[in-house]
Amino acid sequence: MGKKQQLPNSPGLISGHTYWVNRVNQLGDPNTVTKKIEKRKQKLAFDHLGLSDEMLATLKHIGYEKPSPVQAGVIPLVMDDFDVIGQARTGTGKTAAFAIPILEMLDLDVEKPKPQALILAPTRELAVQVENEFRRMSNPDEVRCCCLYGGRPIRQQITQLERGCHVVVGTPGRVIDHLNRGTLNVDQLWFVVLDEADRMLDIGFRPDIEKILRRCPKERQTLLLSATLPYSILQLAKRYMYRPKVINFSKNSVAAETIEQFYLNVPEQLKYQSLNLLLEREQPEQAIVFCRTKLGTERLYRKLFKDEVFTDVGTLHGDMNQSARDRMMKNFRSGKVKILVATDVVGRGIDITNVSHIINYDIPELSDDYVHRVGRTGRMGKQGVAFSFVTPMQGDELSKIERKINSELLPDEDLQAQIDEVRSETMPNLPKKKPKNRYRRAL
Ligand code: AMP
Repeated sequence: MGKKQQLPNSPGLISGHTYWVNRVNQLGDPNTVTKKIEKRKQKLAFDHLGLSDEMLATLKHIGYEKPSPVQAGVIPLVMDDFDVIGQARTGTGKTAAFAIPILEMLDLDVEKPKPQALILAPTRELAVQVENEFRRMSNPDEVRCCCLYGGRPIRQQITQLERGCHVVVGTPGRVIDHLNRGTLNVDQLWFVVLDEADRMLDIGFRPDIEKILRRCPKERQTLLLSATLPYSILQLAKRYMYRPKVINFSKNSVAAETIEQFYLNVPEQLKYQSLNLLLEREQPEQAIVFCRTKLGTERLYRKLFKDEVFTDVGTLHGDMNQSARDRMMKNFRSGKVKILVATDVVGRGIDITNVSHIINYDIPELSDDYVHRVGRTGRMGKQGVAFSFVTPMQGDELSKIERKINSELLPDEDLQAQIDEVRSETMPNLPKKKPKNRYRRAL
């Protein structure tokens, strides 16, 4: 086992089946994935993955007869030096999927090793589990692992780090603590793994993760495992990964799972400014901005057009004649029009794969319409994001939608803070109110 050792080419796993989610498309050259490959992967054996004899013997010894799909997909990519985003849930063998290639590529010829791999996990339990998996698959006389998490005396961990270790597994808070104390040296780090990245973000580790990633060497390999690929993860990937290969192992990825859905608490009077803030921040590839009425749609379109916020704005509603509507659809399909302000006339059935953003400028009257509107993005497994402006009087309507989709819309805190700031500057007498009667968690 030796870092960057030359490995035989893996058996055709890389080309043609790496699944690029649309948003990540912007990061680098896209590859495609096909369902057929999924089957092929399952038939693979570990000895087709270019692993060392030593590793093959270990896997046999611990009873891993053949790679799980996530292992068959991820291992060759990691060994070929790619950054990888693996969409995989716990229980799919994802730990070994990154542990095996890391162990294969460690440089073990150093007397007092500095960490070469750092694995961040959301909880102590997971960190311990990951460390155990590394230990199971390696010789303790050769590979030293260390687990850093809170609630344990830091002194012991410092002693371990001082003795030298190849692999560090830890929770973000404690890892930051060690970085700040100077007890964790990341100069020699090659691998950074974000395990269960979505959970880490859910429980508020984002600032810590970013801090850690900023401290790690730029030249490194970053692996990210996550059960879902929400927008926040893709943003993280965009910032901290180099042309990651994205592989999706969640089988039935229905559109709804690939759409991140947010709401913003916006008073009627601030909707236009909020839309501008949103568009400016998001820079959507293509967006549909939905309004309730034809008149409202036309007004918003004219305002956007006049203000030249975006030059490529169009509109579509039932008051336009058919040929104007057809022309507009053609321009939107071809990408000439990037922002389409529309009524629910485009809410159903229209299939435009590049729509990255749905903005409900007016929340729809019927929750069914919400589902149809949002379904205009996230098509063909692509990633999409939907934002809904909810006025303080529309808590009920928001709840209805949430019951319909059986999930809660998330507040977009960053943008909400900006909107709140505009409100306090421009309308100081307007009290800050949350959507009323929102029926939380009764889904
Ligand atoms: P994980 O998704 O990493 O939490 O793994 C789930 C369980 O699957 C763990 O108990 C692993 O030990 C086990 N496991 C992982 N890979 C394999 C494999 N290739 N064959 C059999 N069991 C495995």
